[in-house]
Amino acid sequence: MDNRIIVTYGDDPMRMTKELLEAAKLDQMIPKGALVGLKPNLVVAKPAETGATTHIEIVAATIEYLQAHGHNNILILEGSWVGDSTKRAFKVCGFEDVSRKYKVPLFDTKGDSVTVKSYGGINMEVCNKALEVDFLINMPVLKGHCQTIVTGALKNMKGCISDREKRHFHALGLDRPIAYLNKVIKPQFILGDGICGDLDFEEGGNPVRMNRMFCGTDPVLIDSYIASNMGYEPHDIEYIKIAEEIGVGSSDIEHADIVELNRDTTIARPTSSRKVQKLAKAARPKEACSACYANLIQAFARLDDEGWLNEFVRNPVCIGQGYEGQSGELGVGKCTCGMKHSLPGCPPRTPEILKFLREYAKN
Ligand code: SF4
Repeated sequence: MDNRIIVTYGDDPMRMTKELLEAAKLDQMIPKGALVGLKPNLVVAKPAETGATTHIEIVAATIEYLQAHGHNNILILEGSWVGDSTKRAFKVCGFEDVSRKYKVPLFDTKGDSVTVKSYGGINMEVCNKALEVDFLINMPVLKGHCQTIVTGALKNMKGCISDREKRHFHALGLDRPIAYLNKVIKPQFILGDGICGDLDFEEGGNPVRMNRMFCGTDPVLIDSYIASNMGYEPHDIEYIKIAEEIGVGSSDIEHADIVELNRDTTIARPTSSRKVQKLAKAARPKEACSACYANLIQAFARLDDEGWLNEFVRNPVCIGQGYEGQSGELGVGKCTCGMKHSLPGCPPRTPEILKFLREYAKN
């Protein structure tokens, strides 16, 4: 399924995970008796609701799916960032309970022995457990990052190197070593958590409820999808560009086979993040679906970077089912088709919203 990304919307990660794994036929990709490694993102010891870490329900549902299909040799491996304890993250994020319930061991890569792997003149200390695993499932969170702009599948592999190597990566400027790491260790499957990742920071604090999950096998394509969801072109993200150049995968999101299993029907709720509240002043929601509203918020974040946000604070953008059949000035989504300026789509994607609002602001 290299060219394919399967997407599902909603607010029930347990159900959504199983739907995605069934649709992807994951069980058929895994050899019998394989040691399956689950690699979540536990960069810090903060619950998933902060926008920093992988939802525990996704991990639990994946284990249930794997065990139901006869894949019982499973472990969860992760190493938090330098300065936080993986063991604390396992506890705070609910992994200890899941480990006990399903009898799946937790492995802290920080304490592991390493093998030095080389690519492009960079030597990398990779944890041996990550190399031992026969089938690796990468479970990144769709979120922003203060240095690399976005973070997703490619960067999540940093949890499989030693702390000393993590420091070395920062000294090298992150982008190139992240791309190179994915040449020496390649997950076979990626299950993305886009439930409520952070707008700007990998350590959370400004979660945006995006109510989506997605899966695929090409980490470059998955990260291009993440970038696009946040209103960026894939090549705006340096490590995506480098990873594509060295043959890790394709960033051609325009021609990707994106299969959406359903539509989001949950209604957007207000968020406590001050940054998101600032962006939300440019929207006038009325029964807006969560996924649709989140795409608009991500577009506003880019418009804020470009200096256009205040245009829409003065002239807010209507969104939501409450506008069906109504007239007005400006709206996004098919529900606002009665307005003078309206962007079709259900939900319209972030890049489309961005293009539409940029043009509106300029005119
Ligand atoms: S266009 Fe309307 S119905 Fe469609 S996702 Fe947006 S708010 Fe929901």
